[in-house]
Amino acid sequence: MAKKGTKKKAAKKKAAKKTAKKKTPAKTTPARKTITFKCISDTCAAHTGPKTHLGPKKSKVTLNAPSNKVTLQFFDPDSGNPLRPPFVETNSTGPIVINKGGRRTFTVRDDAPRDNFYDAKCEDPECGKVVEPPEMIVP
Ligand SMILES: [Zn+2]
Repeated sequence: MAKKGTKKKAAKKKAAKKTAKKKTPAKTTPARKTITFKCISDTCAAHTGPKTHLGPKKSKVTLNAPSNKVTLQFFDPDSGNPLRPPFVETNSTGPIVINKGGRRTFTVRDDAPRDNFYDAKCEDPECGKVVEPPEMIVP
């Protein structure tokens, strides 16, 4: 009798262990993004809107400039100082230049900050500056 009871208990314990699921970490799979820059209402804007999610680290981001040569300058919104873009391939605080009709693909770096403010400016002299600077966001 006593032997039977212990056996039952052990079976119950095993079942409980099986149902406990492991939590998978959220949003770590690299994504693929394309951001297109065009002149919209005299400002060079990304069609995806002022805030673009780049995806997590190691994501591939293609910057596309179909109608004009575009220069992207990342900066600190508090000081106005230039900042390094959130990409592995960019080692300096200098601007990213995409030639007319061209596209460049970058990889989101592991230590990229969440908010990356930038100015987008094209070669069209009529193109103005966006009052609220657009952002590239790394989740
Ligand atoms: Zn423009």
